[in-house]
Amino acid sequence: MTCITLALSKGRIFEETLPLLAVAGIVPADDPERSRKLIIGTNRPDMRLVIVRATDTPTYVQYGAADLGIAGKDVLLEHGGVGLYQPLDLDIARCRLCVATRKGFDYAAAVRPGGRIRVATKYINTAKAYFASKGMHVDLIKLYGSMELAPLVGLADAIVDLVSTGGTLRANNLEEVEEIMPISSKLIVNQAVLKLKRGLIQPLLDAFQNAVNGAKK
Ligand code: ATP
Ligand code: MG
Repeated sequence: MTCITLALSKGRIFEETLPLLAVAGIVPADDPERSRKLIIGTNRPDMRLVIVRATDTPTYVQYGAADLGIAGKDVLLEHGGVGLYQPLDLDIARCRLCVATRKGFDYAAAVRPGGRIRVATKYINTAKAYFASKGMHVDLIKLYGSMELAPLVGLADAIVDLVSTGGTLRANNLEEVEEIMPISSKLIVNQAVLKLKRGLIQPLLDAFQNAVNGAKK
């Protein structure tokens, strides 16, 4: 039997994907928040889920270890999208990618021609491309989490990070100074798999598309 493996991260992406899976008639056999299993079966014998770190989802799909996956645009942009087909914006896990600084920091002055700022982020590629497109010189510092701390202790002048409500920024005396782009999660498919398993993948794509259309109404 040909099987399909869907890669996704637990937390908000898993939670917000559940209703889309339900529309496609797919029900996971376990809750990844409770179970420690990394491979989770579904009510469909030909479909399973693998639970991966959000940043790793494109990698699993790129190499065909998962046939398809669900990943944020932030993660996809940073990965580069090699080997991935990105047929559908699922419109879930919405937030925005922003530049933030300490309240009162003179960002406008810092980014004038000839200015130089230090930016801490886990989105090194995306930040590099963004500031280069504005003709700005920045020194980038790679972090893996808690970016909000960096400006507070003098590690960086600014951060590039995801913001949804702004609550974490406010709690840490930071403010958003620029939006880089709105973010949501997309369905991604291994390019070779799409051709080889079209018969199984296409109905899934259609079901997800219907679920997204339904959610928008
Ligand atoms: P961790 O937070 O455990 O370090 P992570 O940051 O890799 O892990 P999540 O925080 O679950 O993973 O984020 C996964 C994806 O969800 C992100 O890539 C992004 O697309 C989206 N996301 C992140 N933060 C938010 C948010 N505050 N609101 C909505 N979507 C978000
Ligand atoms: Mg996170």
